[in-house]
Amino acid sequence: MAKIQTPQPVRGTQDMFGETEERFAHVVATFERVRRLYGFKGLQLPVIEPTAVFSRSLGEATDVVSKEMYSFEDRGGDSITLRPEFTAGIARAYLTNGWQQYAPMKLSVHGPLFRYERPQKGRYRQFHQIDAEIIGAAEPAADVELLVMADQLLKELGIDDGVTLQLNTLGDTQSRDAWRAALVSYFNDHRDVLSEDSLARLEKNPLRILDSKDPDDRGVAYAAPKIDDFLSAEASDFFAAVTAGLDAAGVAWTRNAALVRGLDYYRHTAFEFVTDRLGAQGTVLGGGRYDGLIENLGGLATPAVGWAAGIERLAMLLNGVGKPLRTASIVVEIDSDKLFSVAKQMEKRIRKEGMPCGIISEGNPKKRFDRAKKLGTDYILTLNENADGSFAFGVKRNVLDRYKTTGRLNVALKFYLRDVFGVSPTDWRVVSHGGGTLKLDK
Ligand code: ATP
Ligand code: MG
Repeated sequence: MAKIQTPQPVRGTQDMFGETEERFAHVVATFERVRRLYGFKGLQLPVIEPTAVFSRSLGEATDVVSKEMYSFEDRGGDSITLRPEFTAGIARAYLTNGWQQYAPMKLSVHGPLFRYERPQKGRYRQFHQIDAEIIGAAEPAADVELLVMADQLLKELGIDDGVTLQLNTLGDTQSRDAWRAALVSYFNDHRDVLSEDSLARLEKNPLRILDSKDPDDRGVAYAAPKIDDFLSAEASDFFAAVTAGLDAAGVAWTRNAALVRGLDYYRHTAFEFVTDRLGAQGTVLGGGRYDGLIENLGGLATPAVGWAAGIERLAMLLNGVGKPLRTASIVVEIDSDKLFSVAKQMEKRIRKEGMPCGIISEGNPKKRFDRAKKLGTDYILTLNENADGSFAFGVKRNVLDRYKTTGRLNVALKFYLRDVFGVSPTDWRVVSHGGGTLKLDK
């Protein structure tokens, strides 16, 4: 019989387990906490959207739309795309649900995205982002709010060191159009050195040549006309208000006049948090103002600003997994139904106090302790039966003793004794107390 081949994962996808998964979950949990501090509401959105949501809002000339989308025809003949980014789907949801009535809206979302790219470190075909947007806010204070939140998030993740906020303005429509015209004429004069991709961009979106990673384009892009020479008074006031807000909030930034975002709909503020610790995949968080997007989707002109960050890239930068919860194991020392049911009640009580806990009652007593130690739990609670039928339990710090206080555990045990045995802490009789073991009976 022919050997059955095990199916392989799709290229550029990851199975996450153990520390990789814990790091990932820590990024999401930190984001969920921080976005609430700033009053951003959560969203759950479809992973599939009509292809037009992305082609109309991102622009046909973008890498994402022209080369990276996972699009397919479904059984009904409709063209569907696995979302390659969040913003366009959020804008679609804003319009189709009539959320204009709630504007300005502060929204956040996280989840998987799909792009057909060449997989490498920090670049996958299924990857994940956290994303925050403010829709219906035209004032620079909204840009500042998002950047202050991003800055706090990176600090709370402990990865702000070596990560710089690079900031630019793309001006308002008038400034951007004037700059664009100057870029077209400049790049036309240098057609001979431009890469083939950039020659195509010259027709469709010349700004994106500035963003090109092709070495042929780098030199000519570097010397290209700068936005500052084309900024209207209004656009420069806007940018000044953003930078003043950041300075007031103590958020460090540097100007990068060549920074453009890969997507067509950006106006005014554009930014990236960049590190050199991830090789070529150095952008961890990027975003800006996209006042033109909702109009592109057939809505009324709606100012909006937002950012997205790759969860995998943030997770790779974490130095530790974040402070883990203290954990306890209850070792039932001898086999008895009575002890097991006491252990069950203790376990429930301890979990209710927010401390992870589990019972170990399999194998011989030595094996039970070995297992508790191997699990690396912070506390081992031992449960034993006294000769008179009462029981005793002990609290031992594990050999891996990571924490000094027993706070949460003490609370759990006090409540447990009170609820189950009707004894208040003052009624406790310490049978023996030494060597880190506290024995109590009732
Ligand atoms: P890059 O220049 O690295 O391709 P991008 O400009 O395409 O980034 P955005 O569309 O702005 O990226 O997405 C925001 C963030 O999402 C990026 O800064 C990065 O952290 C993450 N990201 C984008 N594409 C991928 C991918 N294929 N794999 C992992 N993370 C990604
Ligand atoms: Mg990309």
